[in-house]
Formats: sequence, C-alpha cells, structure tokens
Amino acid sequence: MSTSWKIETQAVQGTYAPKPTEPRIPAICQSTTYKYDSADHVARLFDLDLPDHMYTRISNPTTEAFEGKIALMEGGVGALATSSGQAATALAIMNICQAGQHIVTAGTLYGGTYSLFANTLPKLGIEVSFIDPNASIDEIKRQFRPETKALFAETIGNPGLNVLDFEKFSAVAQAMGVPLIIDNTFPTPYLCRPLEHGADIVVHSATKYIDGHATSVGGVIVDGGRFDWTGGKYPDLTEPDASYHGLRYVEKFGRLAYIIKARVQYMRDLGATPAPMNSFLFNHGLTTLPLRMERHSSNALALAKYLQKHPKVAWVNYPGLESHPSYALTRKYLAKGASGVMTFGIRGGREAGVRFMEATRVIALVVHVGDARSCVLHPASTTHRQLSEAQQIASGVTPDLIRLSVGIEHIDDLIADVEQALQAS
Ligand code: PLP
Repeated sequence: MSTSWKIETQAVQGTYAPKPTEPRIPAICQSTTYKYDSADHVARLFDLDLPDHMYTRISNPTTEAFEGKIALMEGGVGALATSSGQAATALAIMNICQAGQHIVTAGTLYGGTYSLFANTLPKLGIEVSFIDPNASIDEIKRQFRPETKALFAETIGNPGLNVLDFEKFSAVAQAMGVPLIIDNTFPTPYLCRPLEHGADIVVHSATKYIDGHATSVGGVIVDGGRFDWTGGKYPDLTEPDASYHGLRYVEKFGRLAYIIKARVQYMRDLGATPAPMNSFLFNHGLTTLPLRMERHSSNALALAKYLQKHPKVAWVNYPGLESHPSYALTRKYLAKGASGVMTFGIRGGREAGVRFMEATRVIALVVHVGDARSCVLHPASTTHRQLSEAQQIASGVTPDLIRLSVGIEHIDDLIADVEQALQAS
C-alpha cells in the first residue's frame, strides 16, 4: 500500500495486503462477531487500546478493505463506511455538532441532503443556514455564529451542476475556524480530491459511481486528519468521553480523532452500518473507478456538445461545456473531466419530456445516477410531480428539464438513442 502510487494503482491495489495463502481479494466476512482467547484481550478492545474488530456494527474486515482504499484514494487518514450516503452526511455532522449548535451550507444540494438539513437536523436542535455558493466571502462569513461548527457543500451540486469554488469556501472555513465538509459523490476522488483543495472531511454516496453498477446503497466519510480540533470549540473531541472511561479522542488518537470518534461513538450508538456484502461490492467498484470516470466524462461531454447543436434542445447544462457558468472552476478543479450527469431542456415542455423519456432504448428510465448504464429522468413528471409548476420552478425543475446520467456505453449508441428519442418527442 502506498500513498505515493498514482490513483489508478491505488484503486486496483488498495490497502488490503493478504499474507501467503490468504484470499487474493478481500473475502466477504459475513460474520457479526469475532473470537478471542482471553478476557483481557476483549477488555483492551472495549477500552479502545487495540484496533482489532469487536463487533460488525463498529467494524468488519471486508468493510475495512473498502474504507482503507477510499481513504487512500481521497488522500485522507481514515474512513468510516456507512449504510447510505444520507447516513454518511448525518454522521459527519453529528460527530461535531449537537443540539443548540449550527452549520452553514451551500444551498445547492441533493434533495435528500436538503431535507436532512431543512427538516430533520432542526428537529434535533441543529440549525442550518443555506447560502448561495456564489455569495462573497464576507456574505458567507456573515452567516456564521459563535456556535457554528461546520461549513458544508457539494463539489458538483446535484442537480444544479454548479462547481464549488474551493478556494473561497476553504478560505471562509479557515477564517471561521470550522472544518469544510464536502460531498464529493459526483466527481469521486478520480476527478477531484477535495482534501487537496482545503476540505477537511469528505463524504460520499457510495451508491453512485463508487458502486457504479447499481447494486448497493452505501456511503462513506473520509477524514483528512488535518483539522485542529483543539482550542475549545470542539470539546467532544478534546474533553473526556464518559462512555469510554474519560478517554480524550485528540489526546489518544491524534490525527485520527474525528474518524475514530465517529466510529466508536456514533456508529456504535446509531448503527448505520454497511452490510459486508455491500462493502465488498464498493471495494470492487473502486477497482475500475478511474476507467469508468474517464468514460463517463468523455461520453457526457460528447453528448452535451451534440445536444447543444440540436434544434429540439433549448439549453444544455453540463459543467464541462465552455459555455457553462462554472467552466473556469471546472478547469481548475475537474481538469480530468466533469463526470457523467447533465441536464437539458427539451423543446415542447412537459409532454415532450415524457415522450422523450419513454422513447429511449439504450438509456433507461431509472431514478438513479452514477450507474455504468445510462439513465434518464424527467423530474417534472416523476420525482417532482407532487409539486405545483411554480414550486417545481422554484426548486430548479423546469417542465422541460431532462436529467441524463451518461453511462459508459459506446458514444455512437448513446447519440443514436438520444436522436431517435428526440425525434419521437
Ligand atoms: N449526496 C448526493 C450528491 C447524492 O446524489 C445522493 C443520492 O442521490 C446522496 C448524497 C444520498 O446518498 P444515498 O442515496 O446513498 O443515501
């Protein structure tokens, strides 16, 4: 295992290093528990004096292989896999923020994350301020309060597809003394490594490109290990934890304090654990991630350019296009590609959108993104149909909007499919 390897090698080799006669790839360790020879060994495990596995809710060898590999690829010191992307975001925040405290977030978020922040965290006593990611440094700073504990954003906003200005966001986080937490689901570490651009913690929905084959729901938190938790703002990390006989995380675990606390405190107590089978699949998914992300990105760019010239298309939103408002940021932070998701406006509105979605043959109607297979969705008639047209427009879903998650099929087949579906629309 080497941090100096190129990311393609890290993706293939990971951190799993079998001894002679052990399985070549991490086996699916479908076991809840582990066997020991002495009470003392168990006691030392429960005192967190040894890193061995104690119970699969907290850790598991198959999950550990996935966690090691994604931490390596993101350039972090450690990772914690979770049962979904939602769980990763919730735990990443709850690990440092509690009732009576506050976070600031870019408002351009995946709908599930928006709902977590707008509805559920406030019910738990955590207040959330939403900001326009285009706001100035001073405007963003003005949202901060003494009890603000984190700044959150997505590298590529879903579904707006705006690219984050890391320089601005990390400058604010640093100035305000809070960690920058980034949802890096759409780019994956192959296209962007947020920790290199000033982020402190990265979360993923592993359900998307990491899995890549639409088999499993999961998530992961990666800790950059650089944020300084001392200084009084994060007493949960520096002061004694009564649930571990007064252990202090920073004192005992140093740069691993945040991610170990998330595991032994919140994963222990809330139990959003991934199944070992799913971790096995995520680990497999990572093996081919660089190849897939290259193809997703080149296919999406080619399709976006084709759509831009099409008479039945009113507009195209893809951050890899030179005409995109984020293009300068794409070049700065997504030099290898802008991932596989795009939206476009079909002439003829809602009815044309429905006809298009029903006419595609290679591209399937699926409520998903990040799969190797191409997916299409017309949000106005599906995911957002309960909203009035005015509400849909307010949430960025115009009646003509089609979302494509461009897969890794041959580009000629994708263009031919889109062409015949546009004619049918
Ligand atoms: N973050 C982003 C950017 C997403 O697109 C999603 C799901 O679509 C999530 C988080 C939530 O992940 P999950 O569905 O694995 O809970």
